[in-house]
Amino acid sequence: MLGNALTKVFGSRNQRLMKRMGKTVNAINAMESELEALSDDELKAKTDTLKQRVVGGETLDNVLAEAFAVVREASKRTLGLRHFDVQLIGGMVLHHGKIAEMRTGEGKTLVATLPVYLNALTGNPVHVVTVNDYLASRDAEWMGKVYGFLGLSVGVVVSGQDPASKQAAYQCDVVYGTNNEYGFDYLRNNMAFSSQDRVQSQLTFAIVDEVDSILIDEARTPLIISGPAEESTELYQKINALIPQLHRQQEEDGAGDFSVDEKSKQVFLTETGYESAEALLANAELLPEGGSLYDVSNIGLMHHLYAALRAHNLFQCDVDYIVRDDQVIIIDEFSGRMMPGRRWSEGLHQAVEAKEGAKVQQENQTLASITFQNYFRLYDKLSGMTGTADTEATEFEQIYGLEVIVIPTHNPMIRDDAADLIYRTVKEKYEAIVEAIKEGIVKGQPVLVGTASIDSSEHLSAMLKEAGIGHEVLNAKQHEREAYIVAQAGSPGAITIATNMAGRGTDIVLGGNVEMELAQVEDVSEADEQKIRDAWKTRHEQVLASGGLHVLGTERNESRRVDNQLRGRGGRQGDPGSSRFYLSMEDSLMRIFGSDRVSMLMEKLGMEEGEAIEHKWVTKAIENAQRKVEGRNFDMRKQLLEFDDVANEQRKVIYEQRNQLMEIEDISEQVQDMRQDVVDAVISRAIPRESLEEQWNVETLETELRDEFGIEMPVAQWLKEDDNLHEESLRRKIADEINTAYAKKEQDIGSQVMRHVEKSFMLRVLDTTWKEHLANMDHLRQGIGLRGYAQKNPKQEYKREAFEMFTDMLDRVKHEVVTLLAKVQVQTEEQVEQQRPPESEMAFIHENAPAEIAGVEQQELPPAEAVKPGQQPFVRPDRKVGRNEPCHCGSGKKFKQCHGRLS
Ligand code: ADP
Ligand code: MG
Repeated sequence: MLGNALTKVFGSRNQRLMKRMGKTVNAINAMESELEALSDDELKAKTDTLKQRVVGGETLDNVLAEAFAVVREASKRTLGLRHFDVQLIGGMVLHHGKIAEMRTGEGKTLVATLPVYLNALTGNPVHVVTVNDYLASRDAEWMGKVYGFLGLSVGVVVSGQDPASKQAAYQCDVVYGTNNEYGFDYLRNNMAFSSQDRVQSQLTFAIVDEVDSILIDEARTPLIISGPAEESTELYQKINALIPQLHRQQEEDGAGDFSVDEKSKQVFLTETGYESAEALLANAELLPEGGSLYDVSNIGLMHHLYAALRAHNLFQCDVDYIVRDDQVIIIDEFSGRMMPGRRWSEGLHQAVEAKEGAKVQQENQTLASITFQNYFRLYDKLSGMTGTADTEATEFEQIYGLEVIVIPTHNPMIRDDAADLIYRTVKEKYEAIVEAIKEGIVKGQPVLVGTASIDSSEHLSAMLKEAGIGHEVLNAKQHEREAYIVAQAGSPGAITIATNMAGRGTDIVLGGNVEMELAQVEDVSEADEQKIRDAWKTRHEQVLASGGLHVLGTERNESRRVDNQLRGRGGRQGDPGSSRFYLSMEDSLMRIFGSDRVSMLMEKLGMEEGEAIEHKWVTKAIENAQRKVEGRNFDMRKQLLEFDDVANEQRKVIYEQRNQLMEIEDISEQVQDMRQDVVDAVISRAIPRESLEEQWNVETLETELRDEFGIEMPVAQWLKEDDNLHEESLRRKIADEINTAYAKKEQDIGSQVMRHVEKSFMLRVLDTTWKEHLANMDHLRQGIGLRGYAQKNPKQEYKREAFEMFTDMLDRVKHEVVTLLAKVQVQTEEQVEQQRPPESEMAFIHENAPAEIAGVEQQELPPAEAVKPGQQPFVRPDRKVGRNEPCHCGSGKKFKQCHGRLS
């Protein structure tokens, strides 16, 4: 009540904003005659002048009016379209990082040119986001005339494009592309091995067309890039079979292949064990004859071997885990609780599965993933436009911080939206629909029939065929072809059945789209063109007389917003038109969410077969049902976001690290720091900080230094010989030794190679560990709901555990990189080249969200888009040196006894 009263006195916020922007519109209009007087070249030159003003420090808001006026003039000259005043307002709303709600047909494509041009003056790229590839190309070409005239470059990014042209597209002032493509490119960028391989440039400003589709409907599932499991699960079984043939050391330095450290839960191979393992692996044809386990390319095998040894020697069934339903479930060592969903990392879980003969679960599949929510929040500024946003204003505000501004139409809307008709059964409903379509045909009125699923489209199509009624069916499968069909859906008597997404973004002109028709004819003469235009005019008049486009909904959609989208196809730009929805008590929405009041009412009325009711109670009940579904879907998106938010923070850290890594050539300093940390941590395992000498475990220290860094250090002897050696100086001495060995290695192989090795090891370890972490996070998320946390909030638990896992992961990265670098022997640069699945083997996935209402399908998106091979898989250029071959240093010794000697 009070709200209404206040609005009356002060006007709503929306009205006030309109008023304020109206002033700017006047300023823009005032410049028109002056700009009209300019020659093309003079108008073009405005871009440079404006750019200079912006570079000189003037704000974009300051130059807005002039920039908009320039775009409008350029559009008049190139497209013959003069931006309406309301379009200028739309442009301002977009520039201010808000959502402009403008009805279908109001010309949003053209509106975008205004903020795009203005923001491109800064020299930063502007991204325009469309719902499909066809619209991206269409809009880039169409609006490209305006941009080109004004000296701005335009690029299009589409799926399957080769990296070079994609890179070029991203370098343009204006980029058009789909949400999926932008998102995948972002993920790809962060999987690149060098900065040259990255295609996407900065994310400064994005304008999202059909913003509700993209940020709401499609935001229920994340984008995922997944790769084939690098190792087949079979490898776990094969290696598992070898383990019994390796023998545990019974006493230190005694005979045996490996030693076990129960405390740190580690296993170490001895020099003999190492040779036995190589022989066993070679025998099983897992390692090439004469191949070395410590060779860079065999890191994976080594990893597996260690995992299997640990599984057999450190993890006990019914103590550390149980096996149930073919699954290995971890038992928490402190609480003794089962931890379903949680998995050991580093292949250990798989190794235990192999040991127990349980099904070995696929190795981490996800290479990268992100939600649209988090992708679009990466932009410095975000804005959007659509015909239907107001019903979702809260969500836009809460999740994206986007305000929705409703912009009045250029011409008053006169479409007649009739009340719903409700039938008892689906059958009666469809019969009534067919009758309604027949009526349209008699009147020469075009009818657009909107269905909620492909199934109902096909059902209706079959009925029409039976009745001998010609029609088109669109399923949002071939965007380009369907755009042409929809463009003609306004022809007299045209019957078009379409699912919600089909042909979206294409204007339905009454009488058909004459421009598209002309474009189809080759070398049309002027006389012919006139004929075609005249014919169109007659058709146009005919349709106007018949009442314009009639939009018929065969059922209510999940949300009121989607219903409004469908209605919005008619009555565009002040055209006449009408709309009506047909429902039945058997529709899924009514069945699952509808209130009983309606059925009771229908019974009371004692309706006859084929009879329909129109009652405000029913409309109310339907609205309530839709609200319920909308609420659920919002919760789903919020939940997805809450979980992704945790991953998002981590993703930011990792991606930032990666970016820095790629930017710098020399990371030796970082490696040096990491080495310091790792050495300290390893020493502390045997010599706790600030402990008494009696507590020191010098023997363990010697073993660990040898195992982790491949260096023999007679620590016991040092201590005996030097009484002054205390904890700090000992730590320093050890660190010095390790650093010296490292420096020596660098001398041997050359600094340049060493820098390269450091960098690629770092990247590789980071990627592998991150990927594994992603999978673990998935497992954690899936399992968290199953766990019986007494009085604990699963989201909190998830956050806590995810954080722990993350810090563990960072430590692991450091540890891996440092110890690998200390141990590895490098012969050629090529050997440290990266190996990962080629793009052709990756899947780019944006799954359809599960339909909330049974029987109601989501829009049809292909489940996974296969990308053409862009990169060739890495091929090793030359053979690697076997461990039994002479060492490369020329010492005459075998490699494994010389530079290949590691422990
Ligand atoms: P929307 O995306 O808002 O549904 P479109 O961008 O597809 O609308 O444009 C619908 C139609 O309106 C197009 O045929 C376009 O040429 C036309 N149009 C847009 N702006 C203008 C204008 N200022 N003057 C005349 N026609 C316009
Ligand atoms: Mg559009």
